[in-house]
Amino acid sequence: MTVDAQTAPAQAGAGAVDLDSAAQVRAHISMAFDAAFTAATFDGQMAREDLFGLTMSGIGGCIRAAAYALAGAEPSDPELAYAYQGYPQALLGTWQHAGLLPWLAQVLGGDAEGVAIEQRVQLRVHPDVITGALDLWWARQRLLLDLKTVGEHKLSTVYRQRWPFHPHRLQVAGYALAKHQAGTTPRWIVWAYLDRASGDKIPVVEEFTPTLAGIVLERIGEVQWWRDHDPDQAPREERGPGLSLACDGCAWLRRCWGDDAVPGSAGPQTAVYGATDEAVDYAYNEYKRLGKVASDAEKEREFWRVVFERRPEWTPAGRWQHYTGRTREEDDPWAALKVLRALGFAVPQRTKKGSLYVVPATRHRPKK
Ligand code: SF4
Repeated sequence: MTVDAQTAPAQAGAGAVDLDSAAQVRAHISMAFDAAFTAATFDGQMAREDLFGLTMSGIGGCIRAAAYALAGAEPSDPELAYAYQGYPQALLGTWQHAGLLPWLAQVLGGDAEGVAIEQRVQLRVHPDVITGALDLWWARQRLLLDLKTVGEHKLSTVYRQRWPFHPHRLQVAGYALAKHQAGTTPRWIVWAYLDRASGDKIPVVEEFTPTLAGIVLERIGEVQWWRDHDPDQAPREERGPGLSLACDGCAWLRRCWGDDAVPGSAGPQTAVYGATDEAVDYAYNEYKRLGKVASDAEKEREFWRVVFERRPEWTPAGRWQHYTGRTREEDDPWAALKVLRALGFAVPQRTKKGSLYVVPATRHRPKK
């Protein structure tokens, strides 16, 4: 698959510009940042050998996308794979890899310890060969490390669960299995989670075992099964455009969700179950069920908050402590409303979309 020159990002920001006001400078620099992210993303993606094939990082992603990739299915939206999706985090993570890995290799002993970075590996699962590039291999310790740059929220989840995210576990275990096939069985796998903003880190460690290898092979077997039968029937493991960044950047977006699918715009999800009464009933049921799950979870959360809230702040207990954000004054819209009305001003109005209620079919429609 090639990309024509039309797809390449334009040199936004180049040429003569008038920067006569602070607002113009702000706008121009902001546009230049977007253009730089776009160009760097495009450049990085162009350097990839097989952008639309299945790689190790795709094993744990959406199984339908993996099946399309393994089938060599023609992408309906190849340009999305090259595009900046308003999502520079991945790019920042790539740059942090490039900056950190050589230093990590050096402090672990470099060549004397057999430390190598960015090693290409191949995993053979007949009849397929899945490629990937592992971050760091420490030969003397038979330790394989993958750096995972994440946001604060994800790091906090890792801190709680002390376990890698499942797609990451599959991906890195895939590298380990490839090393085993190549003649050296890793002993340790490390998922080194790093907060992109603060530099906080959590290394998650697991021993490489036949069980773990089996989990990888089972997943690849599933992908192969869908590839050999009908990739278009493989489960969509993402929530669709506008609700999933993976879909918004998926090269098979329209093949998967229909010709109307547009990155960033929810809507084609209506096609998921067709339009039969049973399908719509199922959708209502799920909406109600998940609403109840969310409200029960909120009540549970409130209970646990009360349990620890009276402890003094910054008093560690086990792995956690708590603090409360700064108390500050903020606008009180209701008080402001009262004042406006008391002074006889017409209160500005705006349109508020009505909430969505799912109620029994026997209930009468409320008057609007
Ligand atoms: S569009 Fe989304 S659900 Fe469909 S294959 Fe791609 S990632 Fe999976």
